[in-house]
Amino acid sequence: MQWSPIGKPASARRSANLTDYERARREFDWDRAATALSGLPGGGLNIAHEAVDRHAAGPRADHTALRWVDHSERVVELSYAELARRTSRFAALLRDLGLRKGDRVFTLLGRVPELYVAVLGALKAGCVVCPLFSAFGPEPIRQRLRLGEAAALVTSPGLYRGKVSGIRDEVPSLRHVLVTGADAGPSGDVLALEPALAAAGEDTGVAATSPDDPALLHFTSGTTGTPKGALHVHGAVLAHHVTAEYALDLRADDVFWCTADPGWVTGMSYGIIAPLTHGATLVSDEAEFDARRWYRVLAQQRVNVWYTAPTALRMLMRYGPELARSFDLSALRFVASVGEPLNPEVVLWGQEQFGLPVHDNWWQTETGAIMISNFAAVEVRPGSMGLPLPGIEACVLARDRDGKVLRVDGRVREVSDPATPGELALRAGWPSMFRAYWGEQRRYADCFADGWYLTGDIARRDADGYYWFLGRADDVIKSAGHLVGPFEVESTLLEHPSVAEAGVIGKPDDVAGELVKAFVTLRPGVTASEPLRRELLAFGRRRLGAVAPREIEFDQHLPHTRSGKVMRRLLRARELGLAEGDLSTLEAAR
Ligand code: ATP
Ligand code: MG
Repeated sequence: MQWSPIGKPASARRSANLTDYERARREFDWDRAATALSGLPGGGLNIAHEAVDRHAAGPRADHTALRWVDHSERVVELSYAELARRTSRFAALLRDLGLRKGDRVFTLLGRVPELYVAVLGALKAGCVVCPLFSAFGPEPIRQRLRLGEAAALVTSPGLYRGKVSGIRDEVPSLRHVLVTGADAGPSGDVLALEPALAAAGEDTGVAATSPDDPALLHFTSGTTGTPKGALHVHGAVLAHHVTAEYALDLRADDVFWCTADPGWVTGMSYGIIAPLTHGATLVSDEAEFDARRWYRVLAQQRVNVWYTAPTALRMLMRYGPELARSFDLSALRFVASVGEPLNPEVVLWGQEQFGLPVHDNWWQTETGAIMISNFAAVEVRPGSMGLPLPGIEACVLARDRDGKVLRVDGRVREVSDPATPGELALRAGWPSMFRAYWGEQRRYADCFADGWYLTGDIARRDADGYYWFLGRADDVIKSAGHLVGPFEVESTLLEHPSVAEAGVIGKPDDVAGELVKAFVTLRPGVTASEPLRRELLAFGRRRLGAVAPREIEFDQHLPHTRSGKVMRRLLRARELGLAEGDLSTLEAAR
């Protein structure tokens, strides 16, 4: 087939071999790719060195590394040299406090410069960084600090008072709490960062970490159950670097904005590490989603590459085309999305709105980096997650009657034809593969079979090798002999002009086994009514036939995880009157 890109050509600056996907895959080799990194002067590898110090020591020293937009839209910039200086001081402080290689340093901060300094400084000190989302309440914070046996926590005075002081006694491993600013307050149980940093030494070098040393502990989004702590190593930086180039078209002179919070893996791998390893300028916006503000950030910061999520794009769509047109978005060269299935409707909307398609890509906390993508050099197939990146081997594994991966004498088997769905699996061994679920060895081992990592997602691969997401293994609905992926139904409903978002679940039914039920959020200005409900049911039947929703309920506040995913398990639990399970990552209604 022809690998021709659609949209505004980014090809002028694209490396030539990417225009030939097959050749790029054949020729790719992780060892050779690793020559793009510098490694530590004395041998070894450290993420922070690759992200900061090596640029600070070269011609990009004065280039802007971090461009931070605060709540009031004031912009603060840090150069690579300045970031190197600050992170070295932070590392020195941790060492002064007695923290050692492998100790877990947690962060609980909004998107402020101190967060970036703390993360990279702790990596320089050889500590394992575990970022927490600042909107978590005390209970999820306590759970994660305990599970990860936190040795230190970096937070703000307000977050400490509101969320941590009451639970601190329950985390016996926690030796140090550092709070931003100059004032530790009267209680004496925390250390103020500013004076502590001023007293710390300046340059004690980067810890001698090896590619296999633990670097990051990331909790999953909790979409399907209690969040798991996925452990990643310094060697992951190679995957961050390479995938950003291939899947996000990222280049050294780009201004790059990843809207995910560093409390989630996307906000760490691509919101901090990858753009810095390329020597690019990374934009960080302190504020939460607001359609006007986001367009303004894109326009005023002249963002070239934008990495965001389907829910955000769907919300922008709700505001209509006029708003987008009132901003100068001409700097944008590449738009990508991750986290949830990207409805074809949204890809096409991007094409109309920005003159650029939205490039979907797929990965997980466990994979550490993008694995499958509609990347720059290949044709975008709206609705598909794309093709495996060079260096990544993927497949669709056949399942048994219970929906588990079929194993015969310990061997697994690929599905026999492109139409058949199965469990998406990846050949184990890529650089950013997680190395443990913290404290859950058994669970980790259960994710692998016959040399493959089993993702828990159901997909199919078309004849050209593109992967199509059908749902989570847990979410797939079995209705009257059909396997229904919620995503397909949700995307179809989204094509109706009244629908802004949908969440689809299976509901037990005597006749069909399960029937498809859809929860639908309407666009602003559209009123819920019985005729509209009937119209949507009929619309679904016309488009989807046997797998159409049989029930539709209007719901203007679908439950989302804080990382932006529709929590179908919660819709289902509520519908069926079941226990709601772990809600630590549930976002407050918006
Ligand atoms: P948990 O594992 O705790 O249930 P989670 O799986 O949502 O949470 P993440 O690791 O943040 O936690 O999300 C990865 C999952 O998100 C993938 O397994 C997949 O189900 C979904 N996902 C990510 N990107 C895409 C995409 N482009 N298309 C479809 N689904 C996606
Ligand atoms: Mg998961």
